[in-house]
Amino acid sequence: MAEGRIKWSNDFLGLGYRYYDLRMNVAPLFEDRKQAVNAWHDVIRWWIDPTIRVRFVEYAKSYLFVMAAESKRPESNVAFYHTMPRSKHYERFKAGIEGEAYLRLGMYAKKYLDGVKDDAVCECGHEAEDHGEEARDGLEATDECFAPGCECRKFETVQITLLHKKKTVTDIAFMAEDDAKNDALAWNCISANVQD
Ligand SMILES: [Zn+2]
Ligand SMILES: [Zn+2]
Repeated sequence: MAEGRIKWSNDFLGLGYRYYDLRMNVAPLFEDRKQAVNAWHDVIRWWIDPTIRVRFVEYAKSYLFVMAAESKRPESNVAFYHTMPRSKHYERFKAGIEGEAYLRLGMYAKKYLDGVKDDAVCECGHEAEDHGEEARDGLEATDECFAPGCECRKFETVQITLLHKKKTVTDIAFMAEDDAKNDALAWNCISANVQD
């Protein structure tokens, strides 16, 4: 790949990780299905699987995700990057990846009490049915959690939906900030996009 002429995009919300398939899944997440489907059909479906490279450059509290590949349609090719906070999902992905992952695209949505089933789990750890009460006896309606000892005032959960189409990624590397300059792709991304 001509590293100097990469077109970069960070026009997505972040990354999701899934563990229950045959392999770990890493998924750039978009706000709506149309954006995800477009990114797949315009860019990723043309990628040549063995050329896909994914890099994770680690900082103290965040990491930079970088992803690029050679394309059968180089004229419309794009590389992706995003800075994310280090999370337990990321650490679990890193620990469990065993050198290979599926790349998929997905959608990220925040859901509130009105939009979920009773067994949806809130960020407080309790289910939707533990939350909320209709207005009655002069009291206002509430979305708060009534599980004993819970301080949650409002049901909130993140729903991640992944598209089924996937690519297999075998060239994945995790590196400290200081080592990024030794990796052509990571360094190209940092030079082009990341100011300090
Ligand atoms: Zn809650
Ligand atoms: Zn709760």
